[in-house]
Amino acid sequence: MGNRSVSDRLKDFDEVDYGLSPEEAMKEAGRCLQCKNSACVDGCPVNIDIPAFISLIAQGKFLDAAKNIRQQNLLPAICGRVCPQETQCEALCILGKKETPIRIGQLERFAADEERKHGLTVPARKTATGKRIAVIGSGPAGIVAAGELAKEGHDIVLYESLHAPGGVLTYGIPSFRLPKDVVKAEIDLILAMGVDLRLNHLVGRTVSYEELEGYDAILLGTGAGLPYFMGIPGENLSGVYSANEFLTRVNLMHAERFPEFDTPVARMSRVVVVGGGNVAMDAARTARRMGARVTLVYRRREEDLPARAAEVHHAIEEGVEFVTCSNPVQIIGEQTVTGIKCIRMQMCNLDESGRPIPEPIANDTFIIDCDVVIQAIGQGPNPVLVNQIPGLEKGRADNVITGEDGKTSHPKIFAAGDVTTGAATVILAMGGAKLAACSISEMLSLK
Ligand code: FAD
Ligand code: SF4
Repeated sequence: MGNRSVSDRLKDFDEVDYGLSPEEAMKEAGRCLQCKNSACVDGCPVNIDIPAFISLIAQGKFLDAAKNIRQQNLLPAICGRVCPQETQCEALCILGKKETPIRIGQLERFAADEERKHGLTVPARKTATGKRIAVIGSGPAGIVAAGELAKEGHDIVLYESLHAPGGVLTYGIPSFRLPKDVVKAEIDLILAMGVDLRLNHLVGRTVSYEELEGYDAILLGTGAGLPYFMGIPGENLSGVYSANEFLTRVNLMHAERFPEFDTPVARMSRVVVVGGGNVAMDAARTARRMGARVTLVYRRREEDLPARAAEVHHAIEEGVEFVTCSNPVQIIGEQTVTGIKCIRMQMCNLDESGRPIPEPIANDTFIIDCDVVIQAIGQGPNPVLVNQIPGLEKGRADNVITGEDGKTSHPKIFAAGDVTTGAATVILAMGGAKLAACSISEMLSLK
């Protein structure tokens, strides 16, 4: 188990983490205590039977382990790589009290990767029900809902506005953390269940909401792809990107291979990334691989960074420079970016969540020279479709309000994932999608 060397990984976009060898996986699985009241399962939003699959790995039954995981999780190779296990299943592992918790995510990834090497089996479908369901958005929420509903025998049409399925898995999370062939294999398996995928269909624009009215149910999985901006002077200069646009140009449209692929990004020799979350780390590490010197500006202290500790560690290893307790006040340039002016911040009182509230120190400003600024300060639900649905109840951030069962205020419309929670995680989107799919099947069986 280990990572590629820093000098190697900065040369390409290949995966950083090697994963476990069979011997390492069996040894790690052998540490599991097989607790009777296994707390880790409660920490998993899709309730995988963690002790059972770990026991199968310990016995060398890798394909059986993968089969076991698949009963609850349709995207195990993805989750094993990107779930924040340290705050979920692994956080509750009893071994964590005295030593290192079992590396549940690594074991899940191992079993799923072994299974992929041997060829994946398309999950079976129940007898056709004749019910038609439109799923909007093919990120983790939409794709999992489509799979769960197809299993029940419903006919699924999956609409996606982009030219490839997967949502953030495809356009957001860089391939050095989540290889695109892994994403494709898991999505293809779900599509092979007979899901009718319609790419380049932006529902609410190229397909009207009224055209969906013939479906028996609609599931909204449109995500939170609307980037927030700081609202400071200079944001309209050439060379200013949202992290979403920047990552989409590189991950999905291969800007790093321009002109072979026809999407360029602005000249990047010195990049400033603004923000401290996982999206900021992904943007910064991607810019490093594009050959730029990268500075990350964050308004609180290093210990307050909301990104996963492992991502911060990788970013530091890869040479991203951190300027903390600082906030941009102006992006400088005539037509293109030449620098960013920041003000130093001091930490004052604590907010409701216990984080310090940063306040600017008057006149204490400085300039960082740069040719690209990437803003990664958060994002909200995409309003294009949800704003057109009459009577759909929404929250303050335009998020669709649902119960735990994914039901919205509209009797035929259900929702799951980031469009309901705001920017969250892959596994929470999947958990929500499973519940919403269950509610849809229940509703349709009563009709
Ligand atoms: P999305 O993945 O956003 O998918 C929504 C899909 O709907 C998109 O494909 C979009 O094109 C489509 N769509 C939107 N509107 C329409 C419309 N009107 N018509 C048709 N299609 C439409 N989470 C983790 O757990 N671990 C991580 O390491 C992690 N890293 C991340 C890194 C980045 C850069 C980002 C941006 C997010 C990251 N997340 C991570 C968060 C995670 O990816 C999201 O929480 C998750 O993808 C939400 O899934 P979703 O299906 O709700 O939305
Ligand atoms: Fe842990 Fe995520 Fe796997 Fe659940 S899906 S066991 S939370 S890694």
